[in-house]
Formats: sequence, C-alpha cells, structure tokens
Amino acid sequence: MKILVINGPNLNMLGIREPDIYGSKTFSALESFVRDICDAEGIEVTLFQSNYEGALVEKIQQYKTVFVYMPTWRDSQRDCFANGFDLEAFNQCVAAQNACVLMKPHANTIIDKSIAYSNLFFLDGNVDMYCILPYTHVLITDYSSILYDYILMPNKHVILFHYDYDEYVNSREFIFDIQENIVGKQVSRDIWVQKLRCPCGCGFRRDKWYTYANGTHSYGYTCYKQLNEGSKKRREKDGLDTEGYCDTPMIAAWKMDCMAQEVMQQLWTDQNESLQIAIELLKQFYKEADSGKQVNRNAIQNQIDRLKKRINGYVEMRADGDLTKEEYTAKRSQAEAEISKLEAELAEPEEADHAEREAKLNSIIATLKSLVQTEDGKVDENLIKHFIENSNH
Ligand SMILES: [Zn+2]
Repeated sequence: MKILVINGPNLNMLGIREPDIYGSKTFSALESFVRDICDAEGIEVTLFQSNYEGALVEKIQQYKTVFVYMPTWRDSQRDCFANGFDLEAFNQCVAAQNACVLMKPHANTIIDKSIAYSNLFFLDGNVDMYCILPYTHVLITDYSSILYDYILMPNKHVILFHYDYDEYVNSREFIFDIQENIVGKQVSRDIWVQKLRCPCGCGFRRDKWYTYANGTHSYGYTCYKQLNEGSKKRREKDGLDTEGYCDTPMIAAWKMDCMAQEVMQQLWTDQNESLQIAIELLKQFYKEADSGKQVNRNAIQNQIDRLKKRINGYVEMRADGDLTKEEYTAKRSQAEAEISKLEAELAEPEEADHAEREAKLNSIIATLKSLVQTEDGKVDENLIKHFIENSNH
C-alpha cells in the first residue's frame, strides 16, 4: 500500500509557535511518528508539507493565462533582472492580456524587491513549484529539465527563451543536441522566424540544416505544427492518419536570403538614381536651414538698430525734460541690456555652425553611399534586413 500525506500551511511551525495551544511536539516528530507506524505496517508513505500553494493558487486563478518563468542558473546572469530586462514594459504587456507571470529565478539572482508589479510575481526560493505548476498554462524556460516534467501534464505550452544560446552551449556540455531534444516554441530574434508563416497557419523554428566539414552549420526553418505533431510524410510512414497535417517542406535559410536579395534588386533597379535624389533632397534641406539662419541674423540686426534709435529718442526726451533722470536711466539701461543680449547672439560663430552642418551632411551622404554602392553591385545585407524588419508584408 502507498500513502501520500499532505500537510498544509503552518504545520511546519508545530512545537515552535504557541506550544501551549498546539503542544510541544515538533512537526518532524510528527513525521517520524507517521513514518514509524507505516514502516511497521509495511506501508510506503510519502510526506509532504507546503505553506504556499493554497494562497498562491487562489491568487493566480483570477488570470486568464498563467505563465511561469523558470530560467536555468547561469553565473553570468546574477543580475539579469536588474540589467537589460525591462520589467515595467513586460508587466504592461502581460497585464494587457489579463495574464500573470510567476517569476521563479534562482535564489542567488538579484531582485529589487522594493518594486511591486501588478502582474509579475517573484516567488521565494522555498515555494514548492511542483504544487503550482498544474495551475499554470505556459512554462517559459531555457535549458532546465523542468521542461520534461512540464510536458508530462496535459494541455501545457512551452516557450523556450534561449537568449544566450551560443554562449551557454559553448560553456556547458550537453549529452544530446539541445535543438533536437526539445519541444515548445522558441523565442527567436531571427528575422525569418518572426516573419514566416506556414500555409497551415503556424510559425517556423530555425533549426540546423547541414553541418559543414569545418564544423559550421547552415540553417533552415521548420513548421511548428510538424515539430509538435509530426509531418504528413512522417505520419504516413508510421501508419497514422494524415488528414489535416502539414507537409510544407523545411526551408533553407540561404533561400530566404537569396529571395530577399532578388526582390530588393528588382524593386530598386537604379540605386544610383535613388541615391542622387536623396542627396539632392538633403542638400536642399541644409541650404534652407542655412538661409533660414541668415534671415534670422538680419532680423536680429534690425532689432538692434531699432533699440539704438529708441535710446536716441530717450536722450532727446531727457533734454526736453519729458523724462526724469531716474526714468531716463532706467529706460536706457533696459534698452542697452537688450542690445548686448542680441549682439551676443550675433557674435556666435556663424562659420563654425556652417562647417558643422556641412560635416553632418557629408557624413550622411557617405553613409548612404556605403549602404547602396557595394562592390558587387548588390544591395547591402543590413539594408535588406532593415527593410524586412520594418515591413509588415
Ligand atoms: Zn505547417
């Protein structure tokens, strides 16, 4: 016979807190007592106690989707939440979906506990995650074996966030190739992973396609539906039904790059002509900015002349006795202050200003030229990338 004994919150405090009410026997004494009886009776017993799951489970059940983030410990990531992780933006994004994220970093990770987020909850090291996981919907992890426990539960989803894949893979040893032995959706910065959609409606995962003799790889893209459910071909081989399964072949990465290159080449037949137009527009803009500056200088000079005339007027008025001495002094010094302010503006080196703008213009033109005129006459790769990233088609 097997028995599982579950003890809820606060039972670990037996014999410690208020012994006059609960007695002086400790929780571990209670456990030994149960274990001894079971041993004597030949019963296999598992003892379990947790303080947290009840309240936490109740809390997270209010949300439409509950994510749990359990990253693997990396020595280099002690302050991963303090550096480069915009928790505020993350929280807003999660809140907008009526979801919450249970953050379960390693105990040594630095967390700023002074800031509370509405939809992100940092869990203490002593929370038993195995009680909580059944109540979550999506696990976000990276290299942790928790992945394999998680997928044993029905209707669970996995997001793999391998943000430091290259670095991690080089510093640890994997018995099996990690890319071939995982399930779940991988977060990717790869442009085609972000853009490609399979005719079946799913996205693609970037996978190794071919390993060259020198150890480097070429990559390709595989439909997620096939990764999760098997391809039509594979299912056919295994004698399973094939209705509704995807059979889009894997796409080589170089083909995507070639296609982008071709499309750009076609769309943009005369790069030099376009470049010339862009440069003319820029020059026009800078010329206008320059002449605008000149117009401004003329206006300042006019104002100075007007103020000088006004001072002459005050002198005459004083001579005619229309102004008292105090009035005259006050008005004159006010006008003189304005003049010196304007003169200071005029004295700003016009030449330096002009030269600075000229240098800026030249550097913009040089950058444009370097992007457009490559040696082989092809469109620069970065430019294509930029174009794909910013287009919605
Ligand atoms: Zn597909």
